[in-house]
Amino acid sequence: MLDKLGLRNDWDFILHLPLRYEDETRITKVSDCREGVAAQIEANIIHNEIVLKPRRQLVVQAKDGDELIYLRFLNFYGSQQKQLAPGGRVRCFGEVRQGFFGAEMVHPRVKIIVEGAAVDDSLTPVYPSTAGFAQSALRKLITRSLSRIRIDDVLPVEMRERLRLSEFAKSVRYLHQPPPDASQQALSDRTHPAWRRIKFDELLAQQIAMRRARRAVQALHAPALGNSMAEDSLSASFLKALPFALTGAQARVWTEISSDMSRSQPMQRLLQGDVGCGKTVVAALAAARAIQHGYQAAFMAPTEILAEQHYRKLSTLFSQLGVKVAWLTGSLKAKEKREAVALIASGEAQLAIGTHALFQTAVQFANLGLAIIDEQHRFGVNQRLALRSKAAPDSEAHQLMMSATPIPRTLSMSYFADLDVSIIDELPPGRTPITTRLVPNARRGELLDRVEIAVSKGAQAYWVCPLIEESETLQLATAVETQESLQLSLPNLKVGLVHGRMKSEQKNAVMSAFLANEINLLVATTVIEIGVDVPNASLMVIEHSERMGLAQLHQLRGRVGRGSAQSSCVLLYEAPLGQVARERLKIISETTDGFEIARQDLRIRGPGEYLGARQSGAPMLRFADIEADAALLELARDACVELETNAPEIAEAHLQRWLGSRENYLKA
Ligand code: ADP
Ligand code: MG
Repeated sequence: MLDKLGLRNDWDFILHLPLRYEDETRITKVSDCREGVAAQIEANIIHNEIVLKPRRQLVVQAKDGDELIYLRFLNFYGSQQKQLAPGGRVRCFGEVRQGFFGAEMVHPRVKIIVEGAAVDDSLTPVYPSTAGFAQSALRKLITRSLSRIRIDDVLPVEMRERLRLSEFAKSVRYLHQPPPDASQQALSDRTHPAWRRIKFDELLAQQIAMRRARRAVQALHAPALGNSMAEDSLSASFLKALPFALTGAQARVWTEISSDMSRSQPMQRLLQGDVGCGKTVVAALAAARAIQHGYQAAFMAPTEILAEQHYRKLSTLFSQLGVKVAWLTGSLKAKEKREAVALIASGEAQLAIGTHALFQTAVQFANLGLAIIDEQHRFGVNQRLALRSKAAPDSEAHQLMMSATPIPRTLSMSYFADLDVSIIDELPPGRTPITTRLVPNARRGELLDRVEIAVSKGAQAYWVCPLIEESETLQLATAVETQESLQLSLPNLKVGLVHGRMKSEQKNAVMSAFLANEINLLVATTVIEIGVDVPNASLMVIEHSERMGLAQLHQLRGRVGRGSAQSSCVLLYEAPLGQVARERLKIISETTDGFEIARQDLRIRGPGEYLGARQSGAPMLRFADIEADAALLELARDACVELETNAPEIAEAHLQRWLGSRENYLKA
């Protein structure tokens, strides 16, 4: 059980800090107890009995002065009735509430005492634990660790004072054993200086870890794919073949990528930018650069639909330039798969586009120089590493990761600090902003007219349903039923359907028909969430939008507004809305700025969504909250650079203290 809690050595115990505290340092009169606030009372037992209704329970009557209080125990040992015999005096910790017969405490923690016995001299910590592991045992182990090792401060005094941080040993002791006058508020909202110190140390450990992970990559070797800006270079020809010019932001990030690739260390770059900003073209330029130097490039996407779309676009462009492109996904027939694998292994295919299938063990690249990973957060770290390891034995492939989910600054400073980040912060010209409206489900009927009008003007629309199978618990509309009923209500339109359980040929056939405007209204599950690019689609209806996350809604919405027509997105919701859902929908309807949305999402839901597999294993941050503690994060980042430069041995000691047995995530 200790292992499950991550508690293996003394430092693990010392850094296992309380979630909250209970105050057994004072005694509250029953008449002063407030509803909903746990307190310690003291009383004399006057009677006890076992009653059978409404449930078998031990009921003890006790008196605090003139006040009568009932103590109820639903699970009890026979010996407890003897222990709580009339005439004894008890201290009980719990919440007093007004029951049917008067004041009562249900399942209090009880101690038999003699009158005048001393109260605790510090607040009682309550630790994160697992079922079956008693708080009292945990407290004992932690107290033992606190007393048996020397808790020194790794930070130089000068730095500690400059950053106005309290001493480390004092801080941990304070948090494990706060004095009776400690502010419960400052402890529970973690604003107390002791918490500030702990959070700083935790953030510092994270910074050191990320910096080391980054250095480890820099020690590796990769082919230098330099920038020969010759007119006849492949990337230059690729640029010329495009029907548009790069936006300023695209040109800027391409320069950054290009300069990374010209070094002999592997590029580890995250290209982020809002949906539709044009990341694919930039990635294709990078592929062209690798190919021009005689290396292969792999382009991996998380879904078949997305990979297929990349393949269709890029193979057209690249084949004009004489580049051989291979296509590899799990759904290919065995023979096609064998052929693709052979093309990749012989080096005949210069660019390989596909899904997870690209990093299966059977796939061997002749000389992989660049791995492009679209929607990186959808892939696990292991999958990404597997693709990288496909490079030649003595050399690594450059890695370009892309994400349409903009990563807030605090996240790129912390969890993503081992990556270089390029941002496309500009949309291609000629896009019109998307208007977003919230419509209660009760008014769903009106939307049908809207769809019909849009289609009569030549536009196309998406209708997004969240689930494909009947689920009684959630009672969400199924995509299949929706398609049938929409087709019935809109007999003049062609209503198509695409969902995650379809075979990929079927899926592709539907998507091609939609792209060719043979389907007017496409009912879809969230499979269309990423990457789908049909510029003529300018209306999107999202059902049960209240059940979706902000990032997901933003991605979905990004499927419209890709052409020059005015686009709109209608968010259907089931009233009444809960607090969080209301907040989410308000944000999404008020802004289309992906970074702002991501920041709000991070605030509401925490970083889980963004981290994907990065959060596997021990969570890196247990105490600090990168949004709320952004200022502290910056201090920690600067302190990390300072320590690594002037006193790397201190950085090392600090990292060991915090990671100890958790080292694994360093490899992520
Ligand atoms: P995302 O960043 O979401 O992956 P895409 O790469 O799919 O975006 O690009 C979205 C659309 O914008 C595509 O149709 C693409 O051809 C187009 N596009 C990309 N760059 C430009 C540009 N500089 N000018 C005009 N259109 C562009
Ligand atoms: Mg994309």
